[in-house]
Amino acid sequence: MTAVMELRDVTRSFPGPPEVQALKSVSLRVDAGDYIAIVGPSGSGKSTMLNILGLLDRPTVGEYRLDGELTATLTDDQRAALRAHRLGFVFQSFHLLSRRTVLENVMLPLLYSGAPRHLREARARAATSRVGLQHREGFLPGVLSGGERQRAAVARALVTRPQVLLADEPTGNLDHATTDEIMTLFEELNREGQTLVLITHDLGVAARADRSIRIDDGRLSEVVAA
Ligand code: ADP
Ligand code: MG
Repeated sequence: MTAVMELRDVTRSFPGPPEVQALKSVSLRVDAGDYIAIVGPSGSGKSTMLNILGLLDRPTVGEYRLDGELTATLTDDQRAALRAHRLGFVFQSFHLLSRRTVLENVMLPLLYSGAPRHLREARARAATSRVGLQHREGFLPGVLSGGERQRAAVARALVTRPQVLLADEPTGNLDHATTDEIMTLFEELNREGQTLVLITHDLGVAARADRSIRIDDGRLSEVVAA
């Protein structure tokens, strides 16, 4: 089976001075249906890793294949198209547009799909319902709770039916109960077949994924479940 994502000996250096190697010869395979957490302290290379997986950044050395295809030779336009069609992103700070309703925010990734408005709206309604926000469709993000904002962001990430959902500290701005709620949603989505890669500094959050990988100072090591 072809891996959905595969990193081979990826190093990412930021030229200094002093030069920083944020990732050091990292290899990782993500298969369809996987639910993987990458866990490590601040500054360990998590966002760098997710930016590379999400085609927002490129390895300095090494290979990244998405669905078997080498990404190094892709143009910026091709990378943007892959990002829009194959990947969904969720961030710590939600990144919702404050002057748009929940439904409008969820519809945004479909704007460039060429689909007519009624289809885009139907898809956005389905995604909004999927995360339990149908009663908040017409609300502006500012009046929502943190958990509701993150649900809206998850709906926006899912609306294109991405191959992989990438989440960078998705619970970083949420309290304990709301974190639990979002993690339960991720578990349900994964059970329905959604491939998920989540990065976090929270060991409790990481432990809920099927597979936890530790990152320290740019190096990966598998966490073996107790
Ligand atoms: P994390 O997300 O785990 O907190 P990052 O991936 O953001 O860690 O950063 C890893 C290391 O790379 C840090 O030492 C950080 O300072 C450095 N770094 C990240 N991005 C840049 C950049 N654009 N330029 C220089 N150094 C960077
Ligand atoms: Mg980070």
